Formats: sequence, structure tokens, C-alpha cells
Amino acid sequence: MENYIVMARRYRPGNFEEIIGQPHIVTTLKSSLESGRLAQAYLFTGPRGVGKTTTARILAKAINCEQGLSSHPCGECSTCQAITQSRFPDVYEIDGASNRGVDDVRTIRENLLYTPAARERIYIIDEVHMLTKEAFNALLKTLEEPPPRIRFIFATTEPEKVPQTILSRCQRFDFRLLNENLIFQHLKSLAELDDIHINDQALMILSRRARGSVRDAISLLDQLSVFKHKNIDEKLTYEILGEIDQKVIMNLLELIADHQVKDTLDKVESLYNNGYQPEEIAQSLAENLYYLLKNFHSQEDCSKLAQKIGLDRISRYLNLMANFLNYKTKLSTKISLEMNITRMVRMVDTTSIKDLLLEINNPSGDFSPSTLKKKVNLTAKQTSNHTELWEEVVKSVKQKDRITGGYLNNSELIKLEEEILVVQLSNPGFQKLLSRSNNKQIVEKIAGEIWGKNLTIKFIAQPNSKPKHLTQFENDSNIKTVKNIFDAEIIDSPD
Ligand SMILES: [Zn+2]
Repeated sequence: MENYIVMARRYRPGNFEEIIGQPHIVTTLKSSLESGRLAQAYLFTGPRGVGKTTTARILAKAINCEQGLSSHPCGECSTCQAITQSRFPDVYEIDGASNRGVDDVRTIRENLLYTPAARERIYIIDEVHMLTKEAFNALLKTLEEPPPRIRFIFATTEPEKVPQTILSRCQRFDFRLLNENLIFQHLKSLAELDDIHINDQALMILSRRARGSVRDAISLLDQLSVFKHKNIDEKLTYEILGEIDQKVIMNLLELIADHQVKDTLDKVESLYNNGYQPEEIAQSLAENLYYLLKNFHSQEDCSKLAQKIGLDRISRYLNLMANFLNYKTKLSTKISLEMNITRMVRMVDTTSIKDLLLEINNPSGDFSPSTLKKKVNLTAKQTSNHTELWEEVVKSVKQKDRITGGYLNNSELIKLEEEILVVQLSNPGFQKLLSRSNNKQIVEKIAGEIWGKNLTIKFIAQPNSKPKHLTQFENDSNIKTVKNIFDAEIIDSPD
């Protein structure tokens, strides 16, 4: 049997025109080749799998092609072919991760003494940020006094780890992640070339899963190409990739949005039974929430669900899942996931006083009593949820720090507006103690974890006299309207 050459290698771009998704880089490199103004050293930065070393190799060919220096290396001459196959003696491809010491750089420096046989000798150093400090210093000496006909191309995923002294001697190009549509088009053309029968939905799944890396996208297609004589559809694709079917996740989100606790947890249970780990479920929820956010105003089917959940809740759901994935809880991940999902199920939309005022000032809006009533109910329901959450905060603070927790005895959550929690304390002395930065940080950190977003807490003491700004606030005609509609009491106002 013939040795199988992976698709990523078979279809690696051989010239600048074939590089996809990096037009800003290709244009600049081509014009500097055409004008013969090349930099002594290049730094290619960007995520993995977006074409950094491929571009470096094409640049090496463009410089050394036997047909002469040009932005269109022939690809046919023995030099071009040898560079493509990584066996050209004057183009060194060095992996910075495994040749990171000063001795490795010294070897490079020693062999700089020999005149290159080709037009130029080119050193491509991948993952250059991995070099040791001593190696960088040795390299710097070479860059300061470069021998003739020597050029460096550095590639890195972490440019911030490359010393400034090196950076300042390089022309830098930042490679970008590719967007899904570009990857999709590319995969579609490769599937045709390789006679792989795969439908557009399946290709779209691969394009999303590749997360901007064209190399990963091609590897995924390669993985599926074993089934090339079948018709590869989305179902098979999800199966092979071990990913949760998007339909299943959207269905789960629908249950969450409808506040169906039992059905939601049953669905999660059935995912466990199908072998998915809590992290995978959370990852898939997060990715699909992001997808809903992106397609909020689109014509896609999912935009209906997106509109139903609303931007506010989508972003808070996302926050919870991101927190779950970032924050290793002491609880088992399974319980922690279910707690977070339950919190999502119970979540309702927030309506701030600011939005209500905005609506009252906007005569074209719908102010029928039923609309306003609905909002009042939502706010009331939300307040009770927040009160429960605040009780959780007090409990956790007490567990963590008994003294700080004590200051929160009989405290009351007055309101949550955007990222600010206003909490009223039972004793004015506690306000001062809790406002100390370390005490405040403890409470804010725990509240942030429980609400699933960054929060600032404003501690207030029980009011005994009415400050001036409060009187002004009360006399405002809009506030009076709100007060009458809701039969409300004013507790505090922005000062
Ligand atoms: Zn050539």
C-alpha cells in the first residue's frame, strides 16, 4: 500500500497566491520582493495553523528560485522543489522549542562563516520565543552585524515573550485567524479535489470546529475522508468528531429558556449517559450561545431562539458557562455544571429603572398597562432571586472569613444595577470596616462567583436623614411617574 500523505501537506500552498486569509501580509511581501527591498529579519506572529511557516518557506523560495528573485517563485526548479520538501541545504528550518540553548545558536553563528552556496542562506526559526536568554543574546549579535546574504525568518505564537531588542530588528507581520466562511470555501474546494462526498452543513461544522486554524480544518477533513465514499452528513460528522449535535444543544437551551428545571436536568443526564463529560457539555453550550449571539439578527433558523432568550440572558448564560470552564470548583464538576445550568433556568431578564425611564420618555413606545405590569412582575421575581443569591454570598463569606461575614449580619440587598450591588448594612460602623479594600475584595469576589459576573459592591448604612441629592431625585417628574406607577418607595438614588 502506498504511504498516505496527509492532506495538510499535499495541499500546502506553494506560492503567495495560494495563501488564504492573510492578504495584508501577502501584498506587502510581494511588493517588497518586486522592489527588491527585503528586511534583514522577519517576525511572523499569530496563532498556530494559520500559515506562518508556509509563508516563510514561500518567501525562501521567492528569494532563491533559480529563475531569479521574484514574487512568483517557479516551483519547478530544483531549488524550489528542494525547499518545498525541506531538504535545501541553505534553508535551515529550526524548531526553537528543541534547539533553544546558546549552543544551538552558536552552531548557527559558526556556520555563518561559510558562504552560502545559494543566492542566500535563510534561517527559519519556529517558536522563537522558546529560546533561552543566552541564545537570544547570541542571536542579537548576529542581527546587529549581519553577514552578507543571510536572512532570518522567525515565527512565534507568543511575540510578547520575544525580547524588545530582537523585535526592534525585525519586520513584523501579524497573521490572523481565518473566518469560518473562508475556511468553509477552502474545505469545499479541497473536498472536491479529493473526491470526498460531504454536505455543506458538515463542512460548516468542521469550519467552526477549526476555530480559525486552516491547518486544523484540513486535518479534520482528512479525518473524515476515511468515509469519503459514503455521503458524509452532519450527523456522521458530529459522531466522528465526538461532538454534541447542535440540534440537541439548541433543544437544551430552549428548555433552559423556558425555565424547565426537570426536563433540562434530564437532558443533561442523557448527555452524560451518551458519554459526554461535563466540560464538553459546557463547552458546547458556550459555543452555541456564542453562535446565537452572532446570529441574533440573522436569517438563520437559530435567530428565533436567540430572540426568544434575548441578548441580556444569552450573555449572562455565556458568562456562567465561561466561569464554569475557567473556575475549578471544589464541588465535582458534574454538580457544579448542574448548579450553573439550574441558575440559567431560573434567570429572567433584568429591567433597570434607567430602561423604564427611557421608555416613559419615549412616546412611540408601548406603555399600555399590561406591558408595564409585565415589567413590574419581572422585576419583583428577579429581586427575590437576587435576595436568595445575596444570602448565598453572606453564607459563603462567613465560611471563608468569620469576622468579615459577621459585618454582613442582617444586611439587605437593596438593588442590583448593571454591575453594582447596593447593600444596606445593619450597623453604620460596619460600612467603614467593609469598605476596607481587603474585606471588600473578599465579598466582591464571592458575589462575582455566585452571580457569574464581575460586581462592585456599594455598602450603605441604614438611612436616618435624607441627603440633598435624594430630595432632588424624589422631586424629579419622571421619578414621580415611576413612583406612582409602581407604588414604590425610594431608598437610594445615584449621587
Ligand atoms: Zn524556482
